[in-house]
Amino acid sequence: TASFSSRLAQVKPSPSVAAKARVDALRAAGRDIIDFTIGEPDFPTPEHIVQAGARALAEGATRYTGSAGTPALRRAICAKLQRENRLDFQPGQVIVGTGAKQLIFNAFAATLNEDDEVVIPAPYWVSYPDMVLLNGGTPVIAPSSAATGFKLTPEALRQALTPRSRWLVLNTPNNPSGAIYTESELGALCEVLRGFPAVRVMTDEIYEHFAYGGARHLSPLNVAPDLADRTLVVNGVSKAYAMTGWRVGYAAGPLDLIRAMTLLASQTTTCASAVGQAAAVTALEGPQECVAQARDLFEQRRDRMVSGLATIPGVSCSSPDGAFYLFPSVQGLLGKTTPQGRLLAGDPDVAAYLLDAVGVASVDGSSYGMPGYLRLSFATSAAEIDRGCAAIAQAVAALR
Ligand code: PLP
Repeated sequence: TASFSSRLAQVKPSPSVAAKARVDALRAAGRDIIDFTIGEPDFPTPEHIVQAGARALAEGATRYTGSAGTPALRRAICAKLQRENRLDFQPGQVIVGTGAKQLIFNAFAATLNEDDEVVIPAPYWVSYPDMVLLNGGTPVIAPSSAATGFKLTPEALRQALTPRSRWLVLNTPNNPSGAIYTESELGALCEVLRGFPAVRVMTDEIYEHFAYGGARHLSPLNVAPDLADRTLVVNGVSKAYAMTGWRVGYAAGPLDLIRAMTLLASQTTTCASAVGQAAAVTALEGPQECVAQARDLFEQRRDRMVSGLATIPGVSCSSPDGAFYLFPSVQGLLGKTTPQGRLLAGDPDVAAYLLDAVGVASVDGSSYGMPGYLRLSFATSAAEIDRGCAAIAQAVAALR
């Protein structure tokens, strides 16, 4: 019989993509669903960027580009990294890909050998461990807790590192917790890494612009420029410019790594879409008010949702510094029973109950390596946030 790759057998469908598919199916069946699984801005790409894409098409951006991206976009990325992040890169140190997601996969594929280990702090974006497995590596999950603000501590990092470690994946601001690492926290982690020269740092900064209150995004490279020869900065236009469907991301790092990743791209994707790259140039070089507006809107929604959940017994939620997700603990609901007599033994049961009982879709924290929590996206309207919080309160009140 026709068989499948044994590597694929280790991999599960992305839980957030699966949750979204469930929402679509329930809606198609006529159910009214309040969707808190959304992993993208709920508004369209800003008009000036759409127009630039349309113009680029008319002007012939319809062909393959170089595998590392167009020269114009790679220059625009260097200028952006300089302007917004105070990071120095030459265009040759930048690769453009079909989303940050593909570049993360590409970086693992270009560097991992059988049984190499990748340290992934929990809670983590669902795709990191599976991408490591797909490339023959072993994900090593480094735990954190609410007590450390869901952030990796130097002690936990030291415990996770072994002679087989090849990468540490940092994601700040974090999906799902919204945690943003401070200068001193990054400095302490980088200090540990100085003792492990075979370990690269992948820093996923895709939510950088969504930082609230006094929180500011910093890259580990800002605090440890001496690690530049083994740090890969991953970013993209998906979240900041509401361009998820254009599929353009980028990575900047040492020349040898970018060359290896470009070689791999040349034999896999060839390049990111030409029209997407042209639009991304305008996104990065054009007016930036749209980014600040999106940030302000998300901050209001964050506050609204945190207050909406604050009075619900058994649900405990701190206000995240960044990204667009709340990560409430539902440990206070575990052990309770639904009106149908089902025991809520873990966070996946809570997520299933909320969906069944009141049509609120969320993703269980277990999927992010953090049992006892739920991820609720606030990339949705104020009206939906209000409706959803009221529905959760009603569902919780019905528990015994
Ligand atoms: N990194 C994190 C932490 C994300 O949450 C996501 C998207 O959900 C991505 C990367 C992927 O972004 P892109 O659309 O650029 O592939």
